[in-house]
Amino acid sequence: MIKKVYNERHKNEKVFQRECQITPKVLCLHTENQLLKTKTMNLAAISTKKLKKRCSRKNTPWLLRALSFIVVICVFSMCRQSSGPVLVLNPYEKVNWEEATQHKANFHAHTTETDGRYPPHEVVDQYHQMGYTILAITDHDRVVYPWTGFSDLNADYENRDPNDMGMLAIMGNELSRHHHTLSLFTDFKAESRDLNVVLENQADHSDLALAVLAHPAMHWPRKFNIDGGLTDSVITHYTNYFNRHNHLIGMEVHNGTRPMTEYTLDRALWDSLLVKLMPHRPVWGFATDDIHRSVHYGRDWLVLPLSDLSTETLRNALISGSYYFSSIRLHKGNDPDKALTPRIESITHNRRKGFIRIEVNTSEGIIADESIQWISNGAVIHTGQEFPYKRASELGNYVRAEIIGEGGTTYTNPFGFKN
Ligand SMILES: [Zn+2]
Repeated sequence: MIKKVYNERHKNEKVFQRECQITPKVLCLHTENQLLKTKTMNLAAISTKKLKKRCSRKNTPWLLRALSFIVVICVFSMCRQSSGPVLVLNPYEKVNWEEATQHKANFHAHTTETDGRYPPHEVVDQYHQMGYTILAITDHDRVVYPWTGFSDLNADYENRDPNDMGMLAIMGNELSRHHHTLSLFTDFKAESRDLNVVLENQADHSDLALAVLAHPAMHWPRKFNIDGGLTDSVITHYTNYFNRHNHLIGMEVHNGTRPMTEYTLDRALWDSLLVKLMPHRPVWGFATDDIHRSVHYGRDWLVLPLSDLSTETLRNALISGSYYFSSIRLHKGNDPDKALTPRIESITHNRRKGFIRIEVNTSEGIIADESIQWISNGAVIHTGQEFPYKRASELGNYVRAEIIGEGGTTYTNPFGFKN
């Protein structure tokens, strides 16, 4: 019975194929009518469906068929592209590098109001002279703000108007009763000696408040009774802070006053946190002068490409990590030199081809490819201007770039990936 049905169906199809090739439109209808009269209704139904399909294929204009073919090819190639790692967090996604102005910033500075050597107006003047347009004075548990009110704190101080100087003054202080933490965009002052309580109180005090952990490696032996290097306990300790407090946006990777042995630990801590937390919970890197004395001026800074110099735009850039940072304390040449520290011209992402590209420049010219290092899981996995992440076998859940110049090193914030 099955064989009979099969043969009948096969025969009908063959007839149909022949007829369709001659004059498709008329004969297809004709053949369908014939098929309705076949002995087995099931067979007819199956064949009719199939014949209709073939018939419509024959009747489809060639242009439509060509377009269908192209669509299939496109879908196929998109499927191929979507395999492998996918960039899900790009801090520079919304930066318009051509339109934006790059603003130099320091978010950690001390004055004679606490343990700094210079009065507030002199600190402001010095940064203005060095070409900075953004400055936060962050004395220990003391808010030195606004700049137009310096003389209210001490008759010897002079007032400064940031608008006249083309600068943006950021309100804040260094919360110092526990793990030192930069408190920005708020006049909050800490009372507790427990960092979790302090961060909760800070967030309650102001919706605008942001926090950044200062020089972590200085603290963990004393504050957490954790000695030695970067242990699992240290990493867990910091992971918990970042998981618990949304407004804690990052940590200092470079601090101008701390020894370079601490820098090594802080940098390793940053990578360890990124391994644990990316891409869902980024930890942005910071480089600050923490200026107390003249030798600290201009060693470590942030550069923010901003559409305008306003508190809101700056704050959004800090939250989204759309900036880079530099330090002259790590360099390839003989001497640290601000002018020979790489400046990033643009960071772009080519989704179709699957790469991130950095355009770098310094006053001395183009940076060699091997000086641009791409780091994932704490190790260099690629060098060069372009990072083809689809082909990077050692890529973890993040990558960040370090550009080592003659006079200093520049860092991007991390990009997040999902596999
Ligand atoms: Zn400090």
